Amino acid sequence: MRQKRIVVIGSGFGGLAAAVRLQARGFQVDLFERLPEPGGRARTFHVGDYAFDGGPTVVTAPFLLEELFQLTGKRLDRAVELLPVDPFYKLFDARGNTLSYNGDPAHVLPQVEAIHPPDADGYLAFLRAAEPLLQKGFIELGAEPFLRLSDMARVAPDLAKLRAYESVYRFVGRYIQHPFLRQCFTFHPLFIGGNPLKASAIYAMIHLIEQRWGVWYPRGGMRSLVDALAALFGDLGGRLHLGTPVDRILVSGGRAAGVVAAGERIPADAVVSNADAATTYLKLVEQTPPRVRRHLTRSHYSMSLAVWYYGLATDQVPDALAHHNIVFGPRYEDLIRDIFERKVIADDFSLYLHVPSRTDPSAAPPGKQALYVLVPVPNLASTISWDDELQRLEERVLSLIEARFWPGFRRFIEVRHRIDPFYFAHDLGTYLGTGFSLEPRLMQSAWFRPHNKSPFIRGLYLVGAGTHPGAGIPGVLLSAKIAEKIVVRDMEEVDRRA
Ligand SMILES: Cc1cc2nc3c(=O)[nH]c(=O)nc-3n(C[C@H](O)[C@H](O)[C@H](O)COP(=O)(O)OP(=O)(O)OC[C@H]3O[C@@H](n4cnc5c(N)ncnc54)[C@H](O)[C@@H]3O)c2cc1C
Repeated sequence: MRQKRIVVIGSGFGGLAAAVRLQARGFQVDLFERLPEPGGRARTFHVGDYAFDGGPTVVTAPFLLEELFQLTGKRLDRAVELLPVDPFYKLFDARGNTLSYNGDPAHVLPQVEAIHPPDADGYLAFLRAAEPLLQKGFIELGAEPFLRLSDMARVAPDLAKLRAYESVYRFVGRYIQHPFLRQCFTFHPLFIGGNPLKASAIYAMIHLIEQRWGVWYPRGGMRSLVDALAALFGDLGGRLHLGTPVDRILVSGGRAAGVVAAGERIPADAVVSNADAATTYLKLVEQTPPRVRRHLTRSHYSMSLAVWYYGLATDQVPDALAHHNIVFGPRYEDLIRDIFERKVIADDFSLYLHVPSRTDPSAAPPGKQALYVLVPVPNLASTISWDDELQRLEERVLSLIEARFWPGFRRFIEVRHRIDPFYFAHDLGTYLGTGFSLEPRLMQSAWFRPHNKSPFIRGLYLVGAGTHPGAGIPGVLLSAKIAEKIVVRDMEEVDRRA
């Protein structure tokens, strides 16, 4: 049989992982990326001497990365050094409560007890109750394709038993009463674009993924990981075309036949899209049925993000700050509603502050800091006057950092950079400029999420945040694993029929 050619659109973690897997399976893979560098949301911004992680900073479930190297007889640890992050996070509320947690209950429990004694037992009960969610939602079903409604029907009784219909917020609230502690153990869906008040309780497992496999940071920043995957793909014989946007997916006789990339027709036996799922169907495929278009435009989409990157001329980081810091504002549920439902930028906010030098001193030029501050904001389905509001928001954010953590922070700023919903929409091609594509609600998960295989165009497959199982590095790596399984099966079927 002739070697089959596969085009992958987009070099996010999902696209890179799919490209590595399929190239390792003997296909000739061409990966087209519209941006000048790989990584998608995980790309690096270079400003002056500084290199900033553009997006993800928390690596969990590293065995999913390990698998990619093992497929080719190589080892992840020879390519990238993953450094353990401890504590995993430091969390602060507006009333002066603090929790610094890691995978060691002996470290976490006394802190929980000091804040609200009954919640110490509650925390242990929460860990026990979330264990079956991890087992079912991640270990057993994480790499299942969910292409047929019957796949969903098969697992529905288990999901009901596990209360997957409840929100993370409600599920955790059964065990943990103190408002701050409840925030500490329900914020995780925000990391994958979920509203903790609406995301299925299944996503409470994210906390357990951290507990079981740890929280890691690649030495040299996320780019070490992205570059290692791109190099792995190249070593296998894969072809990476940077700065080459795909304008259209070619369809012939109901089958994906290739793409038009930078004006050139590229034939292929199959196409794997790592572009945003909604954008793939609304823009790249002309043949998308109207009912699918309607469904996609009526779905619930994740929030967007404003991220400010600062290069600071100082070698000192205040003792209060860890690598991953989450600072909750005075409101929690209502602020979430402002972001997801009312779609306004409120006066108050919660933020995530990334200080990588705490784990990896090489994350910034010697004697300096390269950090970022992230604030969840509504997506572009809103009527916000973005430039004015984001400028005002940045001032409030800087004032809070100076008042609570880092006196004189502004004085140290040497370089700065910002991304916002327009970056996600225009640079990354994401529908509504979301940070994470479709929201992870129960009715937008598994079979209800855009499938990894197109139901109406043969030979078209989807990987990445907007498809099953969802956003986050582990989710998109799993989507690539699922896509590999289906592509290989389908290509064997094509050969059998030939
Ligand atoms: C600020 C931020 C922080 C995050 N933090 C974490 C974290 O700490 N841990 C974690 O696990 N997850 C985190 N996430 C989520 C995680 O980063 C993403 O879910 C994941 O990286 C998305 O990968 P993806 O495969 O969907 O591809 P994406 O990263 O979305 O990449 C898609 C790629 O496709 C390209 N593309 C699109 N259209 C075309 C086209 N027509 N032609 C060619 N190329 C195209 C885009 O340019 C892009 O490079 C974070 C996300 C953000 C935004």
